[in-house]
Amino acid sequence: MVSATSAVNASGSDQRRSLWHATAATAPTTATLEGRAEADLVVVGAGYTGLSCALTLAEAGREVIVLEAGEIGHGASGRNGGQVIPGLKHDPDDLVARFGRDRGEALVGLVGGAADRVFALIAKYRIDCAARQCGWIQPAHSAAAAQTIFARARQWSARRAPVELLAGDRLALLLGTDVYVAGWLDRRAGALQPLSYVRGLARAAMTHGARIHTGSAITRIVREKEEWVAASAHGEARARQLVLATDAYSGALWSELVTNQVLVTSVQTATGPLPEALRRTILPGGTVVSDTRKLLYYFRLDAEGRFVIGGRGSVTDTVSDSVYAALRRAAARMFPPLARVPWPYRWYGRVGLTRDWLPHLAEVGTGAWAALGYCGRGVAMATTMGLLLGEALRDRREPAYPVAALKAIPLHSLRVPLLQAGIAYYRVLDAIS
Ligand SMILES: Cc1cc2nc3c(=O)[nH]c(=O)nc-3n(C[C@H](O)[C@H](O)[C@H](O)COP(=O)(O)OP(=O)(O)OC[C@H]3O[C@@H](n4cnc5c(N)ncnc54)[C@H](O)[C@@H]3O)c2cc1C
Repeated sequence: MVSATSAVNASGSDQRRSLWHATAATAPTTATLEGRAEADLVVVGAGYTGLSCALTLAEAGREVIVLEAGEIGHGASGRNGGQVIPGLKHDPDDLVARFGRDRGEALVGLVGGAADRVFALIAKYRIDCAARQCGWIQPAHSAAAAQTIFARARQWSARRAPVELLAGDRLALLLGTDVYVAGWLDRRAGALQPLSYVRGLARAAMTHGARIHTGSAITRIVREKEEWVAASAHGEARARQLVLATDAYSGALWSELVTNQVLVTSVQTATGPLPEALRRTILPGGTVVSDTRKLLYYFRLDAEGRFVIGGRGSVTDTVSDSVYAALRRAAARMFPPLARVPWPYRWYGRVGLTRDWLPHLAEVGTGAWAALGYCGRGVAMATTMGLLLGEALRDRREPAYPVAALKAIPLHSLRVPLLQAGIAYYRVLDAIS
């Protein structure tokens, strides 16, 4: 059924210099999988998807085992920008056009509530992760992009979302820079410490009885009679239900998960805590930001006033110094004093992109599910997907999110050169506009 390779193949030495690793809440104590274990549900992957699903079932009294190749949050959930943004890359009207009025509006409601769901979960389980529902600004880097975001904001506003169009002095005042043409503010969004959040989800699931095994790379999955068997080097876990929550870190575990998306590397760097006077001039509106470039920049302050900026890096797991230098230059163009401060933190991770820019939820075998492909919007959406899948498994009903078969992306084997060419092309487009 499944082939074997290590999933911990993207840790990269730069992870040791991650801001989130340096400042995260302590991880709960876990052990590797040894011997034979049984449960109602086996989850592979301890990120937001796997853990929110595990939490839902454990809370309902089911036996749950989570198997993780690295540590909790080893994948994108421990590396991301911590921007909790509702919605998908598609605008509400696109979703309605694609899924029809009733299903489309239901989906808009579901994804529009994704950030609220994260903040409610954090409050319910008292997760210590510097969460703030402080709003998100998407500023436009060009006049054409301004038209797109105004349409986006109008569509959400028509659905009574707390959003606002921004231009001129008000935009500059909230951002602390006047490099952008226009923007919109979405007050449903916010920020958190991503590694603390995923560790908190794990702790909540364990409190309800979930068993989490870290350092337990699953190298083989087979179906025996009515059960799925997930095997690591030192043990195996069996259950009737299986959830593959490995997203962009899937390795060769299950080939459909790999060919269903293309992976890009997203890179971040951060300053130390900024002096108070400087800190007051950067993002004085207190929001998080990600812009409209094809190769977008996303940035924010963390809870201690460190400036964090990220952007698309490469299509491989190798990130050169020049990529970090380009991020520092981009930061200094917006906020010139940042050219003169140290940047001690740098790290990166993989983002999974699907060909229709929608997250995918699929039943890949009887009782076996996969959820993946959040296209850079997974803090809110992977949590939401895990919760929805968990509720569906708990209540034995169809998930509230549309289910579709996974399909291989055409020319997937040529993805690296094609993406490299695409990134070069987008760089030119962004520079021109
Ligand atoms: C640098 C970066 C910045 C981002 N910024 C944002 C942002 O600001 N806002 C936002 O909404 N989204 C952002 N994202 C996207 C978001 O982080 C992801 O969509 C989300 O974390 C995916 O969660 P997940 O649980 O599905 O997958 P992951 O968190 O990647 O978890 C998958 C887990 O599966 C494990 N695994 C894989 N194979 C095996 C195996 N064989 N055996 C056992 N375990 C295995 C991996 O080790 C990994 O821990 C960003 C992503 C990156 C990389």
